[in-house]
Amino acid sequence: MQLYQNQHLKIYNSLSGEKETFIALHEGSVGMYVCGPTVYSNVHLGNCRTFISFDLVYRYLKHLGYKVRYVRNITDVGHIEDDADEGEDKIAKKARLEKLEPMEIVQQYSVDFHQILELFNNLPPSIEPTATGHIIEQIETIKEIFANGYAYESNGSVYFDVVKFNEGHDYGKLSGRNLDDMLSNSRELSGQDEKRNPADFALWKKAEPEHIMRWPSPWGDGFPGWHLECTAMSTKYLGNHFDIHGGGMDLKFPHHECEIAQNEAATGQSPVNYWMHANMLTLNGKKMSKSTGNNILPREIFTGSNDVLSKAFSPSVARFFMLQAHYRSVLDFSNDAIVASEKGYNKLMEALETLGDVAASATSTLDIETWKKACYDAMNDDFNSPILIAQLFEGVRFVNLLKDNKETLTASDLESFTKSINAFAFDVLGLRDEKGQDGSNDKLEGVVNMLIEMRKEARANKNFALSDQIRDRLNDLGIELKDSREGTTFSVN
Ligand code: AMP
Ligand code: ZN
Repeated sequence: MQLYQNQHLKIYNSLSGEKETFIALHEGSVGMYVCGPTVYSNVHLGNCRTFISFDLVYRYLKHLGYKVRYVRNITDVGHIEDDADEGEDKIAKKARLEKLEPMEIVQQYSVDFHQILELFNNLPPSIEPTATGHIIEQIETIKEIFANGYAYESNGSVYFDVVKFNEGHDYGKLSGRNLDDMLSNSRELSGQDEKRNPADFALWKKAEPEHIMRWPSPWGDGFPGWHLECTAMSTKYLGNHFDIHGGGMDLKFPHHECEIAQNEAATGQSPVNYWMHANMLTLNGKKMSKSTGNNILPREIFTGSNDVLSKAFSPSVARFFMLQAHYRSVLDFSNDAIVASEKGYNKLMEALETLGDVAASATSTLDIETWKKACYDAMNDDFNSPILIAQLFEGVRFVNLLKDNKETLTASDLESFTKSINAFAFDVLGLRDEKGQDGSNDKLEGVVNMLIEMRKEARANKNFALSDQIRDRLNDLGIELKDSREGTTFSVN
C-alpha cells in the first residue's frame, strides 16, 4: 500500500455533515455495506447511478490497497409500498399482478440487475445476501431489541418503540430530524392502529391468511420489516461496528435512521463510522423513479430506444456521463449531456490507444509526479471523480504533445504515466474501451447516415419505393429510423 495515497483520503460523513479523514477500524481492511435493490422491477438508470457511485468507492479503496469486504444485499421481502408500514409488499404485489410466485419475480429482476451492472462494469460485491435467506437472523435481532425493552408486540406484529428509544438515544441524528417535530407533523392515530405512536416502525409484520410470503416466528406467521434486514445482514457479515454504510440519499430517512436505531437498541453500539449518501439522477429536473414512471432503463440507452435519445450509447459512455458529476451532486440526464460525454470518452480512449505508440526519450520535459499527485488528490477529496476526469484530460493533452514530439518522457516516466492513466481510467473509474463496439460505432454510424442521406434524396425525387425499401431493409437488420421535424435519426435494437 502506498501510504501517501490513503493518508489523506477524506470522506464526507452524512452523520457529522463534514468531510473526515478516513481511518479504517482495522488497519488495511474496510467493511462496507450498501443497500441493494428491491427486486420487483427492472433497475432504472437512477438506481444504477447509486450503484456506480459505490462501485467507484469500492474500486478506489481496492486501488489504495485495502482489503475490502463489500456487502450489498438483495431486498426480496418486506419493502412495503408506503414508509408508514401501510400498503402491500412491493414484491408480493407484483407477483399478484403478474400471477407469478413471488420468488419468480425476485429471480427475474435479480438476474436483470446483475446483467445490467455487469454491462456497466460494476464489480460484484464480496457478499450479496438476500433478506429471505436471513429470516432467522432477523428474528434473533428482534429478540435482542425486545430483551432491551425497545420493541412491543401488537396483534401479531412487532414494532420498534421510537419514543422509548429516543429517551436515551438520538432518533433523527442522521437525517437531522427531531422526534417532537415528527410527532406533531404526523397524522393522528386511528383507534384501530396497532402502533403506540405513529413514528414507530415495523420490525415484524403479521401475515394475513392470503399473504404468500410468510415465515413462522415467536409472534406467529409473518414477514420481516425492510429496515431490519439491513441491520441483521450488515451485523452478520461486518460485525456490530463497521467502517462504511452507503445508499441513495432518499434512504437516509426513514431507512438508515431506523437501521441506526435498531443497531443501537440491539447492541448498544452505533453501527457505522462513515455514512455515505449518493445523490439522485433526475430526468427533466425530477428524480428518476420507478413509481412515477419518470425514468430511463439502461437497455434503452444501449439501444437508443427512448424518445429522449437521438441514438444509442455504450454502457461505458453512460458510466462516464455519471462519473463526470460528483456522487453527492444531483445530476440531470439529457441527450445533449450524454452526447457531450461520448465525445469526451472517445477522446480519452483514443489518447490511451495513442499512448501505446509513444516512444521514450533521453529526458523528461513533463512533470508526471505532479500530475499523478493531482489525480490522487482529486480522489482523496471525497472521491471527486469530475476533478479526476479533468486531470485525465490534462493527461490527454500530454499524450498529444508527446505524439507530436513537442514534449518528451524518459522510459521510466513514460511507464509510470502509462500505468497511472490506465489504472485511473480502467481500474478506478471502471471504464471499458468500448469505442466501436456498439451504437457509438463510428463506421456503423457513418454507413447508416449515408443511407439516411440517400433515402432523403430518393424522397426528394419522389422515389418512395426506394425510400421505403431503405427503411425496411434497415429495420430487418434491427436498425430503426426515426423521422422528426429536425431530421432522421436511428437506433440499433
Ligand atoms: P430501490 O430498489 O428502490 O430500493 O432502490 C435502489 C437504490 O437506488 C437505492 O439506494 C436508492 O436510493 C437508489 N435510487 C433510487 N432512485 C434513484 C435516483 N433517481 N437516482 C439515484 N439513485 C436512486
Ligand atoms: Zn438497507
